[in-house]
Amino acid sequence: MNKLDSSLVTAALAERGFVLTDKATEADAVLINTCSVREHAEDRVLSHLGHLRHLKKTQPQLVVAVIGCMAQRMGETLLAHEAVDVVAGPGQLHEVPELIDKAMADHQKRMHVLDNIRQPAASEAIRDISERLDAFELAYDSDANHIKSQAFIRAMRGCNNFCSYCIVPYVRGPEVSRAPQAIVEQAKKLAGEGIRQITLLGQTINAYRYTAGDRTYTLADLLEQVSAIDAVRWVRFITSHPGQFDPSILQVMADLPKVCPYLHIPAQSGSDRILRAMNRGYTAEGYIELIEKARATVPELALAGDFIVGFPGETDEDYEATAALIRRVRYKNCFVFKYSPRPGTHAEKKLADDVPAEVKQERNAKLLEIISEIADQDNQTFLGRTLEVLVEGPSKKPHLNKAENEDNPQLVGRTKHDYIVVFNGPESLTGQFVKVRVTKTAALTLFAELVA
Ligand code: SF4
Repeated sequence: MNKLDSSLVTAALAERGFVLTDKATEADAVLINTCSVREHAEDRVLSHLGHLRHLKKTQPQLVVAVIGCMAQRMGETLLAHEAVDVVAGPGQLHEVPELIDKAMADHQKRMHVLDNIRQPAASEAIRDISERLDAFELAYDSDANHIKSQAFIRAMRGCNNFCSYCIVPYVRGPEVSRAPQAIVEQAKKLAGEGIRQITLLGQTINAYRYTAGDRTYTLADLLEQVSAIDAVRWVRFITSHPGQFDPSILQVMADLPKVCPYLHIPAQSGSDRILRAMNRGYTAEGYIELIEKARATVPELALAGDFIVGFPGETDEDYEATAALIRRVRYKNCFVFKYSPRPGTHAEKKLADDVPAEVKQERNAKLLEIISEIADQDNQTFLGRTLEVLVEGPSKKPHLNKAENEDNPQLVGRTKHDYIVVFNGPESLTGQFVKVRVTKTAALTLFAELVA
């Protein structure tokens, strides 16, 4: 979601004549798009601001803007920082270019964040903003200097779930779904510009609901409409919440070949006691039933998940229940996070952060080991298989072999199931669908050769 916000703001700035530079010393303005989900991410922003404060001593004209969730959460505190000129929350991103222009002109500090972000009036404001900013998504990747082959489209903003550890509902506000027509029009436009894969985004994308007249559109409807666009080859959606996951989504995944058989569906814990304390709204068994149903409906479904270790009160038994769930589900890959209390959340206010740091670290490492072992074993079934991949471009970490040269560098692509595949081939294949044969496998990567 943040990546999308960054690219939308970049596009909005580009329209005003700004160009990107990766050197702060060359910049007129530096924007930091922030994440509040974990403490570590916020600490890094504060450290960047420290560097920028020094830089401003030699570049006093430099404008520094802090945008996104941390801006919404910390507003005034950030504005008071010596380095900061502009503070804008996720609901004000459409105003950022104007705020930067003004700050460049008069060097006054400005803050635009939403008051009462959970109020109905804020929902309406967010819906309005959403349309103004989201329309900016471009097929041109200014970072890579070429037309992209894939694009993200926001289907909805915000979240109504209030998981006890999570800051998102407080900084991104309530769930607001975009009109299906706006999404489909945007997808058509992007497809016309060369985009072949569309990923629909939402914090809880399966909660997508849009009512127009007497009809309510769901994610299943949206997937159908986007995959009906001729030039679109693959459609993905992230992220799904396991509570109230409508089976119609699975049916659409099974019925429509363009909808990728991939679900990112975080369980967070395998212990019912912890799931209750997290306010997740399902049990471990309920989660497993959903996964079994999904696997029975969607052939070759690939699954990814998220887990939090060291949630308040998590015992060894709770941790073992999580490890057991992972062993049962057998994910393609998972992200594991060590719990850190986020200010203002229920968990921060009511639950003691009582799992020692070293225990969190140990559980984190052990879970990653289990996840990696499973993926390593399961990925071996791909050996010798021919797969179709969408080529993303040259690999940033070439590790297949050292034979690559300018004509035949190592490329990275993804399968429909979201497996990462690396292989050697001409860079001109970027953005195309090609066939590759898998020659070697590892836990996170499939290694392959191009099939003529
Ligand atoms: S579903 Fe829970 S974890 Fe996900 S964004 Fe909403 S509150 Fe946060």
